[in-house]
Amino acid sequence: VQHAAILSIGSELALGRVIDTNAPWLAARCAALGIRTVRQLTVADDRAPLRTALAHAVVDVDVLLITGGLGPTDDDLTRQALADAAGQPLVDDPASRAQIAAFFARRNRDMPPQNTVQALRPASATPIENTCGTAPGIRMALGSVAVFALPGVPFEMHAMFEREVAPVLAAAARGAVLRSRDLHTYGVPEPEVGARLADLMQRGRNPEVGTSADLGVITVRINAAADTPAAADDLLDAAEAEVRHRLGSAVYGRDGATLAAAVGAALVARGRTLATAESCTGGLIGQLLTETPGSSAYYVGGIVSYANEIKQNLLGVASDVLATHGAVSEPVAAAMARGARAACGADYAVAVTGIAGPGGGTTEKPVGLVCIGLATPNAVDAATYHFGSDPPRHAIRLRAARMALHRVRQALLAVRSES
Ligand code: ATP
Ligand code: MG
Repeated sequence: VQHAAILSIGSELALGRVIDTNAPWLAARCAALGIRTVRQLTVADDRAPLRTALAHAVVDVDVLLITGGLGPTDDDLTRQALADAAGQPLVDDPASRAQIAAFFARRNRDMPPQNTVQALRPASATPIENTCGTAPGIRMALGSVAVFALPGVPFEMHAMFEREVAPVLAAAARGAVLRSRDLHTYGVPEPEVGARLADLMQRGRNPEVGTSADLGVITVRINAAADTPAAADDLLDAAEAEVRHRLGSAVYGRDGATLAAAVGAALVARGRTLATAESCTGGLIGQLLTETPGSSAYYVGGIVSYANEIKQNLLGVASDVLATHGAVSEPVAAAMARGARAACGADYAVAVTGIAGPGGGTTEKPVGLVCIGLATPNAVDAATYHFGSDPPRHAIRLRAARMALHRVRQALLAVRSES
């Protein structure tokens, strides 16, 4: 498999004032063309850092894709940097000069003298025509590395890449295919996932397996390289089967799948319904559940019981339970779940009460403390979770909502294994 590096040039990018959309776009296009991006660099429009970045960018890759710094002004240094790196002079390209002149002629404008520098290219380079703007791209070799420099303006870059770069890359890749698949898991901590998949996660393997964590969800990403799409899919299928074997029911879905949709599927498979009672999540569980089309088949609704009065009057939580244990407590979470199940006439109900912060925490009940109650056809119980006092409010709420969904799914999976 061919390896690519991507170099994004521009001070605004390096400062973080403009978000680099070119590099992810190029990396995705490379992957689709069977080329693996192993490095992305961002550098300011300054001579010395640019020289260093360029020297670093070409190490151990086959292809270098550059965007930005091809404008007509003094801070556009890509041309010169490439010429310097190749040890070549810049020469005037008559065809590029004619195209730039034609660009202005079409707009009935005189060509500003500044723009003549855009017709310059390193002596061994060939220009890449820009049909949308004035800056031609540059195609050349630096040692054994094929270098393509394109303008920073995204739509110009996209058009030029598709027209003149993609075909070259596709030919260089010689039919190689890169495909990836995500398996989402919940309930097994990331270090434990890592331990169970350790041999699969060894670097340099194909398919390559890695993990990433997002507020309780651990995603296992499988990347496969092969000579044909079918062979890549075979590698992915085999690795997916192995990961599922090792992680069992912790795997709730693939690629775009959500935990809420997995809960929905488990409910549908058993012909059961679900209700919610939400305090600190304020309806987030209901929102996550109803993002899945067809959720009306199993989600009957819920009660956002923020105030104690609502917990008492709509969910039937006893006032002495609230007084004795406080609103954030296992007995209240259990009573909320029991109450929601009865009030909504559902088979299952899940309830959340907690302290999302940033205020409202005490030493006894710190920010991040969340109690989750679950009522099933057979039992009611509750458990306490600590989602940490540092995360922002939205992170604690999303963690709580996901844990609540996980609890429901766990309870449903236990039903099948019993029967
Ligand atoms: P020209 O098209 O004149 O050659 P250039 O190649 O010098 O321009 P810049 O001047 O760096 O490119 O950027 C032009 C525009 O493109 C700016 O609006 C900038 O925000 C945008 N841009 C440049 N690089 C990127 C990038 N990596 N991701 C997203 N936008 C970018
Ligand atoms: Mg620029």
